[in-house]
Amino acid sequence: MTRGSPFADATPAGTRFSTEGVRNEAATTVLGTDASARYPLPAMAVRIFISVDMEGIGGITTIRQTTRGTDDYEWARRIMTDEASAAVAGAADAGALEIVVSDAHGSMGNLLPQELDPRAELVQGSPKLPWSMLTGIEEGFTGCVFLGYHAGAGTASAILDHTFTGWFADILVNGQAWNETHLNAALAGTFGVPVLFVSGDDGCCAQAAERLPWVKTFSTKAGFSAMAGRSKSPKTVQEATRRMVADAVRHADRAEVWTPEGPFTVEAHLASSALGDMLSIAPGTERTGARSVSYDAPNVRTMYRMLLTWVNLGHRVGPKTPVE
Ligand SMILES: [Zn+2]
Repeated sequence: MTRGSPFADATPAGTRFSTEGVRNEAATTVLGTDASARYPLPAMAVRIFISVDMEGIGGITTIRQTTRGTDDYEWARRIMTDEASAAVAGAADAGALEIVVSDAHGSMGNLLPQELDPRAELVQGSPKLPWSMLTGIEEGFTGCVFLGYHAGAGTASAILDHTFTGWFADILVNGQAWNETHLNAALAGTFGVPVLFVSGDDGCCAQAAERLPWVKTFSTKAGFSAMAGRSKSPKTVQEATRRMVADAVRHADRAEVWTPEGPFTVEAHLASSALGDMLSIAPGTERTGARSVSYDAPNVRTMYRMLLTWVNLGHRVGPKTPVE
């Protein structure tokens, strides 16, 4: 890893985004009373990172709702923003003094900045580099929250299941299916940051619990199929999100930093042979079949970077995907 590159193991001191002006006055007041008795962590240190995808947001079920340019998208992005604000409020209720929200769906410019709880700062961008859904994460966050997440590619009866992009039929790490929750939890682990809370459909929550048993989950909906499901009301989801995020942040000391040990062989099953052609040009990527590639990575960050490389190469020849 090159020293000074944006992918360096630690963010260089002094480059961290200033938190001036985003202090949470209410929390400061509460914490001023008897912080040590209420919070297991030093109160001033509570910093929360929130990654927000769209497919698992309460009230969102269809591709029209998650796709920019449709008549449904505008209200869907508003309830996505409201759910993100509920998580921000929950983190603030629990005393977080710095809260960063990272927009993690599609073009990663969905959340409405003017409607997001102003106690958070917002990360957006397209392509959002270096860490895609987790861009903005760094060492020193107390914990992270994954909101509106969904089950991995190839999960039955899970609304809009996919992993990173609709044309990955499967992502396997050392032979096991890893979804976005797992990949992002492992990446967060390289920064020493534990996952505290995950929300999304039933399938997403079950998959989070499989590998991250300490994580609190909240199911926003249940899928009958990939394209149909039964969702809780956005209002109900937002209320539960605020309450559960607050609880998860208060008990952040019970969460574990997930640091699965490498090396990792990551294998992608693809929708077409054209994708196999394209992804194989990445140095070190092995073509394991007409529609599959694999890569041996020494550590999580290198694996994650190759996945991002594949996603970005594949955009040239892959089908335009309704989920991302
Ligand atoms: Zn998404």
